[in-house]
Amino acid sequence: MTPYDQDNIFAKILRDEIPSIRLYEDAETLVFMDIMPRADGHCLVIPKTPCRNMLDATADQLAACMGTVQRLSHAAMKAFDADGVTLQQFNETAGGQEVFHLHFHILPRHAGVSLRPPGNMADMDVLNEQAEKIRAAL
Ligand code: 5GP
Repeated sequence: MTPYDQDNIFAKILRDEIPSIRLYEDAETLVFMDIMPRADGHCLVIPKTPCRNMLDATADQLAACMGTVQRLSHAAMKAFDADGVTLQQFNETAGGQEVFHLHFHILPRHAGVSLRPPGNMADMDVLNEQAEKIRAAL
């Protein structure tokens, strides 16, 4: 497996070298808004320690992420009055992964509403307003 790249974009977010809209952090995990959201409230949960994806993660990294995934899923659903939540997690390029630091996508869902297409940059004012709603729900 390709080794972990210390300069991937999420490693830079963890080191605060590039900006992000942070929602939550604890000793082991960080959560921030996805910059190209496919649903209102689309956010990403990452471990603070390095691993490329689920395939090289330790059981402790996975467990820490899943605890935070559950917590943020409840908050994001509450913030957007969602009916459900979709989790996405991709592994290696063939598996759809583009950023090589383990991350879980949390996507609040409403009945009958499809995800938006990928690749559309959010308006930062809107993203900040949505982040505030999730923080308030936490
Ligand atoms: P994946 O690796 O799971 O396919 O997708 C990576 C995700 O990271 C995408 O949903 C993309 O919108 C998001 N992303 C890529 N670059 C940045 C960034 O600089 N900041 C934030 N907040 N999200 C990013």
